[in-house]
Formats: sequence, C-alpha cells, structure tokens
Amino acid sequence: MSFTNITGSIKEVPKPKEVKRTRFEDIQRTATKTKRVMYPISAIVGQEMMLRALILNAINPSIGGVLIRGQKGTAKSTAVRGLAEILPEIEVIGGCKYNCDPLDPEKFCWECNDKQKKGMIKIEKAPMKVVDLPVGATEDRVVGSLDIEKAVKEGVQAFEPGILANANRNLLYVDEINLLDDFVVDALLDAAAMGVNTVEREGVSVSHPANFIIVGSMNPEEGELRPQLLDRIALQVEVEGIADIEQRIEIIERRNQFNKDPQQFRRDFENEQEKLRTRIIKAKQLLGRITTTRENLRTIAQICVAFNVDGHRADIMIERTARTNAAYENRERITNEDIIEAAEMVLPHRMRKKPFEEEEFSAEQLRAVVNGTV
Ligand SMILES: [Zn+2]
Repeated sequence: MSFTNITGSIKEVPKPKEVKRTRFEDIQRTATKTKRVMYPISAIVGQEMMLRALILNAINPSIGGVLIRGQKGTAKSTAVRGLAEILPEIEVIGGCKYNCDPLDPEKFCWECNDKQKKGMIKIEKAPMKVVDLPVGATEDRVVGSLDIEKAVKEGVQAFEPGILANANRNLLYVDEINLLDDFVVDALLDAAAMGVNTVEREGVSVSHPANFIIVGSMNPEEGELRPQLLDRIALQVEVEGIADIEQRIEIIERRNQFNKDPQQFRRDFENEQEKLRTRIIKAKQLLGRITTTRENLRTIAQICVAFNVDGHRADIMIERTARTNAAYENRERITNEDIIEAAEMVLPHRMRKKPFEEEEFSAEQLRAVVNGTV
C-alpha cells in the first residue's frame, strides 16, 4: 500500500522543508509532564495483571492494546505514565514527525519517501513514548489539521500533524476512554483498522501512518465503552483495591516516602527499574525465536470454542499474548500457564452473550478447559 498523501485537487507534492517541531514538543511535553515527579512503575504494589498487560504490549506492539477498568485511586494512570520510563528503544527516521520505521519503506510518509529518493535517510534510536490523548481534545488536534488554501499552494506542507501522528509506533494513552467524543472514537477506529490516519477536507485528502498501541483507562461507573472500540482493544484488565493488609500498608508507606523526597525514592528504585528495562529488551529479542506448537494452538482453539467467542480474533490475540508472555518469562516454549494468563486478559469482554443472560468469565472454567477436565 502506498501512502501518497494528497489526492483530490493537489497533484504535486513539493519538496519538504524543515518543519519546526514546536507543536510536537508541545504534545510530548503533555505526555511526560509528570516526569519531574514520576512515580516509578516498579514501586507499584500489587496490580500484577495490569502491569503485565502493559509490559506485554511494550514487548510486542502487535498484541493490540489494553483497556484498564477500575475505580479511581487504583494506580491506573500512575502505571501507564510510569511505563514511559521503561519502554524499549525503537529505530526511527531522524526528523520524521510520524516516527517512520526505517525497515518498512512501504509505509513511509511523504517526507521520508522524498528523503529516500535523495539518499538522505538517517536512522536514529528513540525510546517508545506514551502519548496522551486528552478527553476533550479538538478534532484538529487529534487527527491533524489541513489548511485548504495553503494546500492548494504548498501541497502536503499545509498539513499540521496531530496526536495520532505523534503516536505512530508508540503508545496512545486515553484516560477516561469511555468519555471520548464520537468523532475521536471514529478516528481511532479508522486508524486502528488501517494503520493509517486520513484527513479529508473539501476534496483534499492527506494520509499518514498511524499504527499505535491503544492504552485506555476508565471507571466503568462513569459509562461503558462503545462496543466497536472495546472489540478493537486486545486485552482487558480489571483493577480493584487491594484487600491484603500488608500490601495496603506498603502502599501508604511508599507513597509517604515518595511525597517526602521523590528524588531519593526514585534513586531507591532505580535498580528495580533497570531490571525491568533489561527484562523487556531481552524478551523483545527472544520473541522471534518462540515457536507455537500445534498443541498450543489446539488448546487455544478449544478455549475459544468453550467460551463461545465471536469470530477468530480472540484466538489470534491469545496466541500473540501467550507467546509474548513466554518471552517475558524467558522461555522459548509456550506453556499452558502462558495461554491461561493470555486468555484471562483476552476473553472476558469477548464472550457472546445471549439476551437477558449474564454470562460471567470464570478462571476456574478456563483452567478446566486447558486441563481437559471439561
Ligand atoms: Zn516519515
């Protein structure tokens, strides 16, 4: 597929000029504005499933995102923002506003296409980012804006990229994702389906790569998520307040230490942070060497039949997630435990419900299916 950008009344794509990055710096600044006092992700007590779902997506972006459901005060945002500090590096084309992948010239933006023709591609390493999509962001801010008058004169230079451009090959974090305006949800669904963001204004159309990992968080008490969007997000985890007394005490103590001296607290956890970073990088390297056996696939298919899911997307998502989980556990083979962990995150929001029927996901039933005792 080619992303030749402008269709409609504009034919010529002018030579790209150096574009000032101010707007992007702005967006980045929003995404990392808590950086000065960021709570280390490795200092979060409990909430293992949420942390694992986030980390697995960082290791393997093709998993397809995660939705975190839970009440306020369950460390949802702390975890997602903290993830930014342990994300692995990716290779990008230097100066590209769309974070084009040097290994994927098919999906280059128009500027990188042009650079390639001139032999001016420069490969850089950059850590993956957590890009914020604030609820209430304007459409222009999200998908980018197109100045029609300028477009006629200057072509694609008239396009001012938005949040979805910055999010390409990164994580797109939407807190209160259930409260998003419909137009943003539509834009997210379009981009998620094609890996491309297209902006059309008065017969002029601009497209650029927009392949991001959606990380949404929501408090279900404030309303549900549109089913189409729910279906697009691969994993779902529920976070609850922790009932364990010792863990609750630990949470208070760590918070107090952090508030008293955030820098010292961060130094205390730097070792843990580094361990997590190294583990993610290793898992990424191992991922390509993991083989899924036919027996693994049989188990996954049996689970999906037993749980009555729609279509085949769940099978594929469970396989990817189980494979990534094996890599995170530093194993080259997928075990039934990997499959169970994956299914627990993929299945709960994908079970087909008959009208008036409240079918609940059950971890016991899952184990029974995997162990062949059903
Ligand atoms: Zn590019």
